[in-house]
Amino acid sequence: MNSRMKKFISYYKPYKGLLLADLFCALIVAAISLALPLLIRHITMLLDNKVPNVLEQIYITGGTMVVLVALLTACNMFITYKGHMMGAMMEGDMRRELFDHLQKLSFRFYDEHKTGQLMTRSTTDIFWLTELYHHGPEDILITLVTIIGSFIILGQIDMELTIIIFMFLPFMAAYFIYFSKKMNKAERRSKDRIEDINAQLEDSLSGIRVVKSFTNEHVERKKFGTANKRFVQSRGVGYWSMAYFHEGLYGFTHLISIAVIIFGAIGISGNALTLPDLLTFFLVVGILIAPIQKIINFMELYQVGITGFERFMEILEVEPDIVDAPHAKELKHADGQITFQNVGFKYNEGHEHIFHNVSLNIRAGEYVALVGPSGAGKTTLCSLIPRFYEVNDGQILLDGTNIKDITMQSLRQNIGIVQQDVYLFAGTVIDNIRYGKMDATDEEIIAAAKMANAHDFIMSLPDGYLTDIGQRGVKLSGGQKQRLSIARVFLKNPSILILDEATSALDNESERAIKESLEKLTNNRTTIVIAHRLSTVRNAERIIVLTDNGIEEQGTHEELLKQGGTYANLYQMQDTVTTFGYSKYKPREPNGTCATAMR
Ligand code: ADP
Repeated sequence: MNSRMKKFISYYKPYKGLLLADLFCALIVAAISLALPLLIRHITMLLDNKVPNVLEQIYITGGTMVVLVALLTACNMFITYKGHMMGAMMEGDMRRELFDHLQKLSFRFYDEHKTGQLMTRSTTDIFWLTELYHHGPEDILITLVTIIGSFIILGQIDMELTIIIFMFLPFMAAYFIYFSKKMNKAERRSKDRIEDINAQLEDSLSGIRVVKSFTNEHVERKKFGTANKRFVQSRGVGYWSMAYFHEGLYGFTHLISIAVIIFGAIGISGNALTLPDLLTFFLVVGILIAPIQKIINFMELYQVGITGFERFMEILEVEPDIVDAPHAKELKHADGQITFQNVGFKYNEGHEHIFHNVSLNIRAGEYVALVGPSGAGKTTLCSLIPRFYEVNDGQILLDGTNIKDITMQSLRQNIGIVQQDVYLFAGTVIDNIRYGKMDATDEEIIAAAKMANAHDFIMSLPDGYLTDIGQRGVKLSGGQKQRLSIARVFLKNPSILILDEATSALDNESERAIKESLEKLTNNRTTIVIAHRLSTVRNAERIIVLTDNGIEEQGTHEELLKQGGTYANLYQMQDTVTTFGYSKYKPREPNGTCATAMR
């Protein structure tokens, strides 16, 4: 048994009792189904043999049949209700496992996979597993018991006719194995296509505001139409094999009935068979056909379920590429000294390095700005500190310890990030701020909001802190979202702060409020500002210029201007195109406190 099959079966483990009860009921269903034709045969034989107390016997047999049918119905009800519940719980377990696993995967995984695709894998793909998990064992058991039972019963009546009937079975098996393989392939393809549709849907709907602003609805419609058409085409192949599979097997069952009537009639004409015998044959063949239909249904379910399972496993088998080292230590409160030692990084194997051999020391509490042309790797360099990506060469130390030797949880707990593109979760204002520290009290949250200059605007919202902000905070302005994200970081209170040019897309009013709150936030923390506009950095304690050649120069604004190198060039270029002269942050004295603006 391969490991995927073992995994497939392992989901039954917590529900062993339920599975056994389900199988026991299935066994009773199969046995009663076989017993009923025997009782009918018994009644017809009573009539044939002219038994003296025939009415009494008929009543007893009839009564027995009613009791058996009641039991059969009760068992079927149990199977339908509890069996399906078992399947649903197993599916729930799988979905939770997949979600937990998705939480462990690194940025690199999410760079490669589309959200819509992952949503398909977590929902539609495993949906049919409920049916498979529930019907699989029970259908197999019922089929086996019925086929063996029918063979024994029919064999006792007439062996030759029984063998004729059972000779059909291997042909049927070969037929349905051939077409089930075709169906499997088609099923897989159509699942891939559904995944494409969901990815396209997610992309178009998430970007609906951009779509509308560019009036590009027709472009999205076309992209969606293409994915949709490909899905319909893939279904065509699936239904073609399904038609052969399904209807071919029904054809076989009709052939079996014809064989029974022809060979049965021949038997009766030669006195080898009686009419009750032929009736029993018909009834039993009817029962034999039911499990064959079950097998057909099962095979269909199996195709749908197992392809979903395989796709589920493909994600589950992705090993998280960034995990805690076995000896990793908890970091309580970092001082915030960050050291890059000969760090090299590339996003993917076979890609160019984003940088080589970067060495850099940032003192605890220092305020540095990273500048350089767009695409030089400023954001990338910062994303290595919380281990969103793993360095390829060299190492990064925090307070002298390699970050790989620190548990990821405690490392990231010490780092706060404020990005230009704020992500807020659907929910209330207070929930979104609390995200920075899940066990924070309401007072702490309000204090953080005040520090972030967010309290006043929050209080002016219809429900204050309990206002629903809509999906991704659509009901808030850019500046308001930014302030909530800053409040979140205040609450987290990390010793290291990474600001990704957090204020470049804001109006003046918001910018001032945010500037103030960021000043407070940067106090007594190691701060790295990724600056896309030089006007925001001239007051940094140290400016680091990152270009395609790595760290090209570093120093204070004045020192770098004096050097007349890359920074000076960039600065002069910007000075001519922007109304330079406006300092966003107040310059800080080396001791970390804010000083007054230089210009
Ligand atoms: P900066 O912040 O200096 O503008 P980035 O760090 O964002 O630059 O990007 C540096 C380079 O890495 C760019 O060439 C960019 O195309 C590439 N890059 C950024 N993110 C990814 C990613 N997730 N996968 C692959 N390449 C990336």
